[in-house]
Amino acid sequence: MQQHNFSPGPAILPPSVFQALAAGIVNYQDSGLSIAEISHLTPAFREVIGEATRLVRELYQVPSHWEILWLPGGASSQLSTAPMNLVNPDDTIAIVDTGYWSEKAYDAASAYCHVHRTDPERLDIPADAKYLHVVSNETIDGIQWHEFPDVHVPLVADMTSDFLSRPIPFEKFALIFASAQKNFGISGITCVLVNPTYISDSPTKIPAPKIFHYKTHIAEQSLYHTLPTVPVYSSLLMLRWIKDHGGVANMYQNALQKAAIMYQEIDTNPNFVGRAPLEKRSIANACFHGKSPEIEAQFLTFAEERGIYGIKGFPTIGGFRASMYNGMPIESVQYLVGIMQEFSAQAL
Ligand code: PLP
Repeated sequence: MQQHNFSPGPAILPPSVFQALAAGIVNYQDSGLSIAEISHLTPAFREVIGEATRLVRELYQVPSHWEILWLPGGASSQLSTAPMNLVNPDDTIAIVDTGYWSEKAYDAASAYCHVHRTDPERLDIPADAKYLHVVSNETIDGIQWHEFPDVHVPLVADMTSDFLSRPIPFEKFALIFASAQKNFGISGITCVLVNPTYISDSPTKIPAPKIFHYKTHIAEQSLYHTLPTVPVYSSLLMLRWIKDHGGVANMYQNALQKAAIMYQEIDTNPNFVGRAPLEKRSIANACFHGKSPEIEAQFLTFAEERGIYGIKGFPTIGGFRASMYNGMPIESVQYLVGIMQEFSAQAL
């Protein structure tokens, strides 16, 4: 049975990307070698990472003085590495309390500097704060910043679940990071975009090993160590696909359209109710509940039997979450909506 993959990540990628990835793993460009068995320092791999970097720069019109890095450790490691590189032990940063991933950012940054927590409505940011950490899209809670806040400090953004699917006003930011496995590749690699003028030269509270310095990776163009080469290759293939399909502007329009279809059904189907406040609803992750625990259990089985994969909500939140990243076709969202309608028609 065909599966419609709504997984929150690792997530769906277009079949053509998986086919090209599989071909490259078997025999990369007719070289007789797998992309997985060549050195990261070969001209062939340097071309892979070079093109991936150029495509990120081109797709987003990244300012020329910004650096683009490819780092392992997931977005999770950036929650520590960002404060490690941008601030000194006596500095203060602010974090907007939006949900699960802002809480993780708070915990991680607290080891490196003073952290002021603020709520999204008040945005009271200390005058001397070095930056404001925002989670552009709270993947678990289904909440998104539709406009990034205007504040007196630069933003550091965790864009793990909406990078390359929405525009970025770069003038507001010091640093942006996203792991690949939702919108632009498989798991194992994180893309970090940094304005180097914000990188601090001072020692950190906990001495930071060289491998965690952005400057190390800037100097070596992300090839300081053996980085996860196959995930970088998957990102290159997905970046080419994004370019071939109208770039970020088109990804954004698709995301808006998919979300509109999904929320229209959630709002009108008597068996379901949306979770996030209307004005904050994520266009990447639509979170919703069934009207009762029984309906939730029945719908999950009903949907899974019809090829819907990965819509169970995060354990602490429950309900459902339909993740609709770049690789998700509109037809799959229409199919899920059809299943919700069919379920409600037979439940009546
Ligand atoms: N930040 C956000 C918003 C996420 O959704 C996730 C993972 O789902 C992470 C950070 C952590 O990413 P990783 O698992 O790649 O470390």
